[in-house]
Order: sequence, then C-alpha cells, then structure tokens
Amino acid sequence: MTTDLLNTFRISIEDYYRANKRSLPWRKEVPDPYEVWLSEIILQQTRVAQGTPYWEKILAAFPTIEALANAEEDKLMSLWTGLGYYNRARNLQKGAKQIVSEFEGEMPTTYDELLTITGIGPYTAAAIASICYDEKIGAVDGNVYRVLSRFFGISTSINQTDGIKEFQSLANSIISSTSDAASYNQGIMEFGALHCTPKKPFCMLCDLADICTAFKQGKVDELPVKVKKGKRGSEEIHYAIICSEKGIALRKRGTDGIWAGLYEPPRLQVAPKNGEELAPAIVHKLSHKDLKCHFWLVNKEILDEPITYYTKNETGDLGMPIIIANLVENIKI
Ligand code: SF4
Repeated sequence: MTTDLLNTFRISIEDYYRANKRSLPWRKEVPDPYEVWLSEIILQQTRVAQGTPYWEKILAAFPTIEALANAEEDKLMSLWTGLGYYNRARNLQKGAKQIVSEFEGEMPTTYDELLTITGIGPYTAAAIASICYDEKIGAVDGNVYRVLSRFFGISTSINQTDGIKEFQSLANSIISSTSDAASYNQGIMEFGALHCTPKKPFCMLCDLADICTAFKQGKVDELPVKVKKGKRGSEEIHYAIICSEKGIALRKRGTDGIWAGLYEPPRLQVAPKNGEELAPAIVHKLSHKDLKCHFWLVNKEILDEPITYYTKNETGDLGMPIIIANLVENIKI
C-alpha cells in the first residue's frame, strides 16, 4: 500500500464526514469526554436511534462523572433497562469510580491512560482520545473492519489475533498523517454505518469505487472475512447410580479433563439395556460443548471393578461437579 493511496483514502473519508455527518447531541464543537464516553458505551451494542434517548436520560440523571460514580446501582440499572448487556452499565460505573479516585474526577486525556479504566478497551480509548484530544490512534469497530477490508482488499480474518493486529496497524498508519483525527475516525465509522454498509453498500454512488479493491475485483460481498466459530459439540455421559446401605458408589476422576480430581458416579460406556433412568437427563453447558448426563439405576454387577461407597456425610467432604453434588444432595441413600 503506497502512502499516496493511504492519503487519498483518508482525505476522501474526511470529506465524506464533513459533508454527511449526522447531528448527534454528543457531537459538539468542543466535545465533552464524559458525554463521548457515555455515547460510545451505549452504542457498543445498540443503534444510534435506540441509544440516543438512553444517553439523554442517563446524562440528565448523572450529569458528571462524579454523579455517575456515586449513583445508586439500582437507579442506574433502572435507567439502563431495555438496553441489555448490563455489564456495560456496571463497568461504566466502576470506570467512573476509578476516574474519581485516580484522576480527581477528570477524564484521562491520553489513549494509554484511558485504557487503564475499567470498561474502556482499545476501540473506546481510541475513539475518546481522537474525538476529544486529537490523538492519532485508529478506532477500529465493525464498520471500520468492513470499510478497510473492502477498500484495501484484505482477507485476513477480523476475529483472529493476526487480523486484529493488521487492521489496527493499518488504521494507525492512515490516521498518522491527518490534521483532524476526530473527523477521520468518526468519518470512517459513519461511512461504514451509512454508505459502505454490510448489505447493499452504495458502490455505484461511491467516490472511492474507482480505486476500491473489492469493488474492482467483484469481492464486495466476500469481505470482511470472519472465521466461523466451531459448532458447539455435545457429549452424552451415562452414570451408574448404585446405592446400598453403605452409601452411593463414587469414583475419583483422573488428572485430565475439566472435572479432573473430582468425584462422580462410575461411568458406563453406553446406556444399559432396559435401564431405568433415575431422573430426566440433565444438560450441563460448558463453554465449548453441552454434556448430556444420564443417571441409570443399576446393580453393582454391571461394573467389573471394585466399588467404593460413600455415605451422605462423607460426600460432604468430596469435591464434585455441581450436577453431581445436586444429585447426591437429593438422592435417598
Ligand atoms: S466501492 Fe463499495 S465496497 Fe468500495 S468503499 Fe465504496 S461502498 Fe465500500
């Protein structure tokens, strides 16, 4: 990529912004960093039209960072109701408290300092630093990935480490030559949101079409590339529930796997023929797969290995996966 191409792209984006920028209440001649921060957090998973009334009422209730820091959590949550992703609100308040305690209630003024605040990641830090303090760091959100990948014809995946680094580095190179970091960063996001849209982008009306790689190569619909997360796996587990006057049969798992070293009933390779299930199967959700656990009432003869029984009292001292602990708690031994 030549410097000329980067500059041509940047200038075109800045011109687009000046001609097309939406009038939004936090877009002021002299932007207020608290207002910009609030807008960026609200708009992370919310469209502008839906988020703006929330921005207005939350700002009215907590007009300063200090007011937000001291807000009743219930009050903040009730104002947030309907926006979803409540962690955003909790982190926003944690961040406000941190700014009060570490920065005397004044928003930090550099990208690096902003990154130290709870809830402010690279994108938000770059947005605030460029919009409010003219720092030349590229803000890379979903819109920016799309515009950059299409215009420069980059097919590196945007949801993997290499791609994230590559796009951040490109965004930083482009913005490095500007004299108006705020307009460039907001411009490319606006361009992506309104013009180079995910579906049916306005290529036929685009000033960049002649030099847009994806358009020239007919690859607009293929970019950006996102690696599909693998399908969630599932696994069936069949437990042998064997009880006697001595208690319930349990076995300690080996050192591998997520339940390593924990106690559970002996496992069967397959469901026993004509077996009776103690209760409906329980699905236990892990981050990468679902475990469907069946509990079969069986005789000890089904196992060809020694069995150790534990009384209810003894099980209290054993580490067990939560579904097994619940089972043991409720079973009559
Ligand atoms: S030509 Fe189409 S794909 Fe290329 S920048 Fe313009 S709108 Fe986006």
